[in-house]
Order: sequence, then C-alpha cells, then structure tokens
Amino acid sequence: MNLIPEPLAFELSSPGRVGVALPKCDVPATPVPAGLLRTELKLPELDELTVVRHFTRLSQKNFSIDTQFYPLGSCTMKYNPKANDAAAAQPGWKGAHPLVGDARNQGAIELVYRLQESLKAIGGFSAVSLQPAAGAHGELAGVFMIRAYHLARGQAGRVKMLIPDSAHGTNPASCTMAGLTTVTIPSDAEGGVDMEALRAACDDTVAGIMITNPSTLGLFERNIEAIARMVHDAGGLVYGDGANMNALTGILRPADVGIDVMHFNLHKTFSTPHGGGGPGVGMVGAAPALAEYLPGPLAVEKDGKFSMATPARSIGRMKAFYGNFAVLVRAYTYIRMLGEEGMKRLAESAVLNANYLKVRLEKHYEVKYPRRCMHEFVAMGDVAEGIRTLDIAKRMIDYGYHPPTIYFPLIVPEALMVEPTETESKETLDAFADAMIKIAEEAKSSPELLHSAPHLTPIGRLDEVAAARCPVLCYRG
Ligand SMILES: *Cc1c(COP(=O)(O)O)cnc(C)c1O
Repeated sequence: MNLIPEPLAFELSSPGRVGVALPKCDVPATPVPAGLLRTELKLPELDELTVVRHFTRLSQKNFSIDTQFYPLGSCTMKYNPKANDAAAAQPGWKGAHPLVGDARNQGAIELVYRLQESLKAIGGFSAVSLQPAAGAHGELAGVFMIRAYHLARGQAGRVKMLIPDSAHGTNPASCTMAGLTTVTIPSDAEGGVDMEALRAACDDTVAGIMITNPSTLGLFERNIEAIARMVHDAGGLVYGDGANMNALTGILRPADVGIDVMHFNLHKTFSTPHGGGGPGVGMVGAAPALAEYLPGPLAVEKDGKFSMATPARSIGRMKAFYGNFAVLVRAYTYIRMLGEEGMKRLAESAVLNANYLKVRLEKHYEVKYPRRCMHEFVAMGDVAEGIRTLDIAKRMIDYGYHPPTIYFPLIVPEALMVEPTETESKETLDAFADAMIKIAEEAKSSPELLHSAPHLTPIGRLDEVAAARCPVLCYRG
C-alpha cells in the first residue's frame, strides 16, 4: 500500500544534529531559571529533511478522503470541494476581525445573513442561528430553547425528552446536560418509532421528542407527521437531528412535517471536512414559536445595512463573535455553487448511491430492515460461522477502504453502517462492492484471513480493549 521505503531504523535522532540555523545572539545571554528546563526529556535531534520525511511518511499511512473511498455511515465524511477552502482562505475573510465593529464588517455579516437565508429556505425555518460549534452543541442549544419555551409558559414540570433507541448518542447526552430526563422509545419491527410506545409516553411532563429523520438506520421515518402531531397534542415540541441532511436537501423541508427546532451539521452536509474535533457549525433552525429563543446574535438586514442582533428571548450566546466563520464561508460557497437544483440533485445522488450499493451487497450481507434506504444503510457483518463485523472491517483495510461505522446503531447486532455519499462514481462503488463480496467469500473459505486482518498495515490487529483501558499515548525510545 505504501510504496515509499521505510527508513532502516525507527530511531532517527543523531546527537548534535539540528534543523535550523539560528542567527548569532545579539543580546546578553541569560541562563534559564533553574527548574524550568526538563532535562529528563530526550528530545530527538534531527535535520529538517528527516523531519519533513518522517511526518510526510506518517501522513501517508492515514486514510483520507483525498486518497481513498471513505464510506463511514452516519458521520458523512464526504467530498469537500477544494474551491470552498480557497474561498475561505481569501485574505479578506481570513483577516476579518470581529472587534472592528459591524460597520467595517459589512461583507462578513452580509455573508452570515445570506447563509442564514439559504439555510432557512432549505429547512423551511422562520429563523436560524449559526452560533453553535458542533452538532451536539446545536442539540444543546435546541434543548435549552425547548426548556425556555415551556418555562415561559409556566410549565416547569415538562422535563421529559423522548428519544428513539436508534438515536445518535449525542441526543441523550445533550438532553441530560440541559437538565432534562431522557425516556427511550423503542423501534418497531420496520425500524420506525413504535407508535404505541410513543403514545404511552406522551403526558403532561413531556418537554418534547428528539428525532432523527432519516433515522440512523438510514430509513425515512414514514410516521413523522403523526409523531409530531402526537407530541404537539401532548404539549411537547419536536427536535429534529439534521446532522445528515444530504438525503433531504431540496426535497423535503423539515419544518413542513412538524419539526420545531433542528440542527444541521455544516461540517458534514455543507462541505467542511470534519473529524478529529475540528471546527464545525451546528446551525440551529427554528419554527415561528421558537425563533425568539435562538442563541444570538444573528445577522439582520435593514435598508441594505447589516448588523448582528440578539433575539428577544434568546437563550444567550453559544460561541464568541460570529461562530466558526470559515465554516460559514465554505457552506455559503457550496450552496451558491450548487444552487437550488444542485441541492436537490445532491440528495437524489446520495440516495441513489446508497441504494445501488445496498442492492449489490444485500445478497451477501444481511440488511435487517431491508426496505429502500435513504443516504445510508445498515448491513450485518456476521456472514459466516465465527466471523464478526470487526473481522470484516479489518479486512477491508487490506483492500484499501476505510471501514464503515461498525456496531452502531446499537439496535442492529453486528452492525455495518455504509454511507457512500453523493459524490462517488459508479466505478468506485462497484470496486467497493466487489471487494466486500470477495471478503464475504473469504469469510467462508478462509476465515483465518479475516481473524488476523489487517495484514498490509504497519501495525496489525490491535488489542482494542487494552488500547482503550491502558492507552500508551507517547513513544519513549
Ligand atoms: C454527527 C452526528 C451528531 C453530532 O454532531 P457533532 O458535530 O459530532 O457534535 C448528531 N447526530 C447525528 C445523527 C450525527 O451523525
């Protein structure tokens, strides 16, 4: 896989070697105060070229979207056009400083305003806030808004949040952090929300429901309108988890089916690379009843002038200044580049690609909820006696593919969650399907090949329990 020759030794340090030439000291030398220098640290001594090669070589051992197909389900790591990075890196945006004030930041605030307007149109919301820095941060904002709404109506007793058992782990976490209690709603035989269980949970202590549609099973929640009605009739509100909107953009506006407040991950669906905790934006959109509770400030326009203003009953700030501004520039560029028609094609291609892969693979990997999927589907990796999903995932690395999300959602045993994304070619999808089918055959004919995979990486199968419980996080030569 890696054609670059490895250095002969791992230890590359050589005493006295340096990578920089410092100018001659032109101030009096002063000794470093005692105790400040950690002499026990054995820092490597290296020349520049060795350091550059070391890190470049390490970077080539990584999977990345720029080198390989990356079908990670639920957390869409899709193609992020380089043009959007170029836009965000323009000196005018990069050098903008929020403290120069609204009057001198008209361009930046106008961009925030226009992006708000585009996202309002995509979601059908009456207002949106671009403050939160992540999906989970947006959820927290949304739950605070729901809580504030009930408190303003004298309904302090509404403390229960209903959460389907297929939900992303961040949903119950955000809800708990906001001081509410979660109640888990089971799924029915079709993978949708169990309507009887929902009915039974709806009482006057319900603050709302947090629902993901398409669900993390990759299925469209067909009862979404009935679910929203049931929760509204009980006096609760509907929170939509829209981290992955790429099955719906330009096709369905969530507010039209009864969602009151929702987050979109601009760093998943709207073209900012994510992972590793990098900067993101969890935009929150709200229906009219909740708009005045949005976190602020938002960009507003009056007579062609732009300024930042905070809604009347805002839950407050979630992030300094305009939020993660470069992410906003990328999202705006992306939306403008695709336009209304492009947004729709994006969703159609995401769904088409996922269904194409599903049909090619389901004869070899069981799909527990086999109806037509949206942007992703959940197969199962127990394809032969003694074979687990982990074995399949590790073997995929030998074929040069980043494994899909595994063991999530929790309600599918041996889950293998595949999301091809809207931008992969048929050739890539076919090559991936061929590899998956070959692995399913290997699982039957030579299972040991899977049990000991991966074979082609610098390090083979890790002891994942030990890695999690007793991590060794730094190398000591
Ligand atoms: C990624 C994701 C989240 C959380 O988003 P972060 O930006 O990682 O906090 C929430 N829900 C779903 C369905 C997701 O895929």
